[in-house]
Amino acid sequence: MNTQLLINGQFLRGEGSIEDVLNPATGEVIEKIAEASPSQIQAAVAAASSAFNSWASTSPKDKSTLLLKLADAIESRATEFARLESLNCGKPYLAALNDEIPAVADVFRFFAGAIRNQQGMLAGEYLPGHTSMVRRDPLGVVASIAPWNYPLMMAAWKIAPAIAAGNTVVIKPSEQTPLTTLKLAELIAEILPPGVVNVVLGRGDTVGAPLISHPAVRMVSLTGDISTGSRILEAAAKTVKRTHLELGGKAPVIVMDDADLDEVVAGIRTFGYYNAGQDCTAACRIYAGAKIYDKLVADLSSAVSSIKYGEQHLDGVEMGALISERQRNRVASFVERAAQQSHIEITAGGKMGNGRGFFYEPTVVAGALQNDEIVRQEVFGPVVSITRFDEPEQALSWANDSEYGLASSVWTRDVSSAMQFAAKLQYGCTWINTHFMLVNEMPHGGMKKSGYGKDMSMYALEDYSCVRHVMVKL
Ligand code: NAD
Repeated sequence: MNTQLLINGQFLRGEGSIEDVLNPATGEVIEKIAEASPSQIQAAVAAASSAFNSWASTSPKDKSTLLLKLADAIESRATEFARLESLNCGKPYLAALNDEIPAVADVFRFFAGAIRNQQGMLAGEYLPGHTSMVRRDPLGVVASIAPWNYPLMMAAWKIAPAIAAGNTVVIKPSEQTPLTTLKLAELIAEILPPGVVNVVLGRGDTVGAPLISHPAVRMVSLTGDISTGSRILEAAAKTVKRTHLELGGKAPVIVMDDADLDEVVAGIRTFGYYNAGQDCTAACRIYAGAKIYDKLVADLSSAVSSIKYGEQHLDGVEMGALISERQRNRVASFVERAAQQSHIEITAGGKMGNGRGFFYEPTVVAGALQNDEIVRQEVFGPVVSITRFDEPEQALSWANDSEYGLASSVWTRDVSSAMQFAAKLQYGCTWINTHFMLVNEMPHGGMKKSGYGKDMSMYALEDYSCVRHVMVKL
């Protein structure tokens, strides 16, 4: 297993302090990994800076060929990647293998095609005697900071559009889940020119903060917590760096009285608890019409109680452990505080799991009210709240009454009402009669405090590049 940093195509042992990397399903230490030292962070940025000119002028065809090679290499090692991701994150092995790894390879394939197909304004004589044209050029060195919930996917979302657009990258995975990014570094070292992508390891304050503050870094891309986003904005303001922020979420799910109840229950059972709810788009904040409410609570609670949780390789396991003891305790404290409210009933789960790992039962919190903490705060765990509404306008206004703005869904048989909700919901994405589904052709990103960076799609290429005007006097 690679535990070394990748700087300028070379693998180097970190010279900073040693961090434990755990298996969340058992609490056991998998690896002890050394962080990057300040001089190694400098060296990684220097390598990305010196690789920039040559990479930026590499043709779209040649960049595309290398991205396709990376995709093939990831796919051909799918089982190794899935094993590591599942071990390090606690997620079921088959979910990592069948859901995540194909999607990761597709990110590289999408941007391999996208960079050869960019479109824009026509060159022309907008001022008589002068021809104007628009270019889209890379920015320089991008510092990419990734979270722990989908480590390899987040690395792909950050690296693929950035390098497709011609930038070079220094990526720091989460200190809790570096293993698949380290494995990806092996493929990067084989396939990409030295310095185009560099990998440094370590915590946010010791490695992330100096990396993003480096004067040669032109753009910072973060997927993480709102508070981390604010800190990054403060640091970026000092040197006026471009930022790309994908922050938290608290997705509202509006269930109208005419919705197909079985579909809703099956949908929330899947999309509320996937990755143990550690997902910024998780279907976690349900608003149910008064007529469907009681049956939804009963059917969902029974469906959720059947979710099999446990260690990564257990037969039929659907949900794994939470990432850390701290995260599990945080989730437990949210549910404890909710349960103390007399109007709330915990109708499924509500306890920590047995065993050594950081498990928490899939939980349904019924009877929640709009101002309850469980409705307003991101729990980032397997916990779904249900709030009853009387009028659709009330559901819409409660759904929008949130500092988050990433994802939302509406469940109804009435297309017209669904479209009216979709037009008024203040979220980067609205699904109708489904939730959670992403495709590389479409943008993923937020509004409000969920941030403003767009991942996936042509919009990510725009985020990672700069529009320039070139004018020729004829
Ligand atoms: P986090 O903000 O604690 O950490 C994210 C990354 O930032 C880590 O690599 C961390 O080391 C680094 N970091 C922390 N402080 C830093 C600093 N001062 N300077 C530079 N880097 C720093 O988030 P997390 O706990 O790893 O992930 C969970 C959060 O991420 C949740 O809030 C979740 O909603 C959000 N998230 C959002 C999306 C999205 O697409 N919007 C996707 C996944 C996760």
